[in-house]
Amino acid sequence: MRILTPKVLKQYKGKVCLLRADLDVPDRERKNSLRLQAVMETVRLLLSNGVRVVLIGHLGRPAFFGDKKYSFHSMSKFLSQELMEPIRFSSEHNFKNIKKEVRSAPARLFLIENLRYSSGEENNDKEFAKELASIGDFYVNEAFGVSHRAHASLSGVTRFLPSFAGPHLNKELVELGKIMKRRVKPFVVIIGGAKISDKLGVIKNFWGRTDKFLLGGGPANTMLAAEGVPMGDSLVDYNSLDEVKKYAFSPDVILPTDVEMKGTKVLDIGPETTKEYVKIIRGAKTIIWSGPMGMFEKKGFEEGTQAVWKAVLANKKAHTVVGGGDTLASLKLLTTHYELPTNLFLSTGGGAMLEFLSGKKLPGVEALK
Ligand code: ADP
Ligand code: MG
Repeated sequence: MRILTPKVLKQYKGKVCLLRADLDVPDRERKNSLRLQAVMETVRLLLSNGVRVVLIGHLGRPAFFGDKKYSFHSMSKFLSQELMEPIRFSSEHNFKNIKKEVRSAPARLFLIENLRYSSGEENNDKEFAKELASIGDFYVNEAFGVSHRAHASLSGVTRFLPSFAGPHLNKELVELGKIMKRRVKPFVVIIGGAKISDKLGVIKNFWGRTDKFLLGGGPANTMLAAEGVPMGDSLVDYNSLDEVKKYAFSPDVILPTDVEMKGTKVLDIGPETTKEYVKIIRGAKTIIWSGPMGMFEKKGFEEGTQAVWKAVLANKKAHTVVGGGDTLASLKLLTTHYELPTNLFLSTGGGAMLEFLSGKKLPGVEALK
């Protein structure tokens, strides 16, 4: 895999970089988005080295071309303001025209409308990828969070252009690669969030070399249900029960002993469980965390997640990786002043991180090799 080094930047001075960015960030989350910060840093790096940039990416799952809810229109304004750089926004997917425009316009920065407006993106259509690629002189992937998808802008384009991993994508691979190889114990994996099926791959991959799995959220509910505990109207992934039974009874899997409820729904881990989890996290030397402990967005059900954050941030001896869109969003629960310790890596990849930590190869990364 080739990475975007100073030498490469020099080589492409005055040329056009097709930059696949992770712009999949809803309006209200833009301000503090790690994903957008990473992208903007790379844009600045390219521009300051005399490279012109054509930004490409996707937002959500638009139903048809022009689906307003998913337009990059306001993203364009936001990025332009933050970067203090005019952006030429192209609302069409006529890549031949865009190519001409890029070659003739004096602008340094361009943004093309949501690629998922065209079916060629998700279908990894060869012609679509080829025309898209024709816009740039080289390609950089700075979208770790989508690199588990074999889409045109992630894998297809790399067949037509010299391709490089952006600095942030590279950092993700280095950091997640390190934790995959790490054997320092006590090794603690914390799994929460919504669906256990999303996270079972990580449990399987770390099974046997993790000392403790701490479960919260939907995954804990599902494990408890697999043990035969009645879960009322709680979020339980009943389709996963059989598979989950293999793990639920293991002494390595720690489940809540008390919970916070609304009606018949379990919505957070209880105080006794929180205390136990915090104790285990304090003693850990390696920590992986994905998924909030409860429905933290709802007042009264945020305490488990908040306590886990505090314990994770306080443990300066551990090598720690935290990821997942909602997990990172829950960091805002710590309203008091906090500093991110250097032993902690926040991954911008939700699904991509989980697939990587499950031991799977990411098509967007493989395409760079
Ligand atoms: P991430 O984005 O960090 O991977 P997920 O998307 O898997 O996390 O799950 C986050 C969502 O799970 C949050 O919106 C949270 O409200 C919800 N959640 C957590 N615990 C529960 C629970 N016990 N019952 C219902 N929803 C829950
Ligand atoms: Mg999520």
